[in-house]
Amino acid sequence: MQQRLTAVRQRIATACAAVGRSPSEVTLVAVTKTVSLETAALLPSLGISDLGESRPQELWRKAPAIPATWHLVGHLQRNKVERTVPLTRLIHSADRFSLLETLEAFGTRTGRTIDVLLQINASGEPQKKGFAPDEVPRLLPFLLGLKRVRLCGLMTLAALEEDQEKCRPTFARLRQLRDDLQGALGELHPLGELSMGMSNDFEVAIEEGATMIRLGTALFEGIE
Ligand SMILES: *Cc1c(COP(=O)(O)O)cnc(C)c1O
Repeated sequence: MQQRLTAVRQRIATACAAVGRSPSEVTLVAVTKTVSLETAALLPSLGISDLGESRPQELWRKAPAIPATWHLVGHLQRNKVERTVPLTRLIHSADRFSLLETLEAFGTRTGRTIDVLLQINASGEPQKKGFAPDEVPRLLPFLLGLKRVRLCGLMTLAALEEDQEKCRPTFARLRQLRDDLQGALGELHPLGELSMGMSNDFEVAIEEGATMIRLGTALFEGIE
């Protein structure tokens, strides 16, 4: 795993250098869904402090056992909010109106501020979750009324492509949407984060401004 990690870090550095960014601007979130608790538990000692899971139940199992900064990157059912939020630093997958309402209610009831990213279906594939980009302007009054949910940025999944260049327009669209939305929302929601880029496409995502990349396969292929 150490070798994989070194190779990934090198690729991150190269992508950053290509566009004059610093690797310190890009957080590597290791998505541990395919590996055991024992393997995931080794990551902090390798210098990876941000870990992610796509399924809440897996997060419930791993997060209490592994001291790390935990991210939920997959679909969150509303009945799992109460148990998931306290274990999670950031929810990348606020993908629908009803979930935002439930998070706001939970935050109000418990006095928490809940940090989330809006998941955007920037590739426009019908099977993908998330808000359609042209749906977002209609959400503005609702977003401006949130008191306990803090939007920290946007997240997307690009289409699976062999040539990652094909993902570039999706990532550029997410960044543009973020810039537009930041103008509309002002200081209430600091939209600094762009969570985009997975094992297949993270270099192009970094070139287009990703601040968080979510990697599974590149780190863990062949490891359990
Ligand atoms: C599994 C998963 C990842 C990591 O995918 P890889 O292609 O294995 O790097 C990233 N984001 C989400 C939402 C995932 O479910």
